[in-house]
Amino acid sequence: MAAAGVSDDQVTSVCGHCDRAIPSSNIDLHFAHCSRNLEKCIVCGDMIPRKHAEEHFLSTHAPACCSLCSETMDRDILDVHKGENCPKRIVTCEYCEFPLPAIDLLEHQEVCGNRTELCYMCHKYIRLREMHSHVSRCTGAVSNVAESSRNTRALERERERAAGAPRRQPREFSPRRLLFTIAITGIAVLLGSLFFQRKPGRTPVN
Ligand SMILES: [Zn+2]
Ligand SMILES: [Zn+2]
Ligand SMILES: [Zn+2]
Ligand SMILES: [Zn+2]
Ligand SMILES: [Zn+2]
Repeated sequence: MAAAGVSDDQVTSVCGHCDRAIPSSNIDLHFAHCSRNLEKCIVCGDMIPRKHAEEHFLSTHAPACCSLCSETMDRDILDVHKGENCPKRIVTCEYCEFPLPAIDLLEHQEVCGNRTELCYMCHKYIRLREMHSHVSRCTGAVSNVAESSRNTRALERERERAAGAPRRQPREFSPRRLLFTIAITGIAVLLGSLFFQRKPGRTPVN
């Protein structure tokens, strides 16, 4: 037995079940255990515990189902499918950056790209789908349009100032709001007295 340790390292036998080289002194024990508990996967050749064989097949080799579009496909292309090809994968509109399923993208961008936005250089309204190429060649040279619109705005501001009402909104707003509050309070008290059938303890006068 003392000398056996040296020869064990060199003398091996091939297990008839898993085809692995096993020290000859262990081969009987190994074979018993191996053939009882392990199973060779017919697809990848790995030795799999019998009780996990089905799970191994399903999680490793069985066709996979895309969780987005429910299409069944080879497992190795699932990631690429989900990332680049799946019609239900989420992409973003190049104009408004709204996230939506890839299958709806063309139709959405058809509409979205037709919206217009102001080119800050030439002050013209440009379709979003043309904005990129427009900006690359826009000289911003339509300065008389920009100039006149600037003048118009300045003129409007002057007129407002002349009318003496650049900040008229807040001034008019507060008395109106006060009246509104009083009216609401009055209605509330009135309703309260109707619904609860009791005399209001306070008068609706502030
Ligand atoms: Zn074996
Ligand atoms: Zn396998
Ligand atoms: Zn899919
Ligand atoms: Zn969009
Ligand atoms: Zn422009």
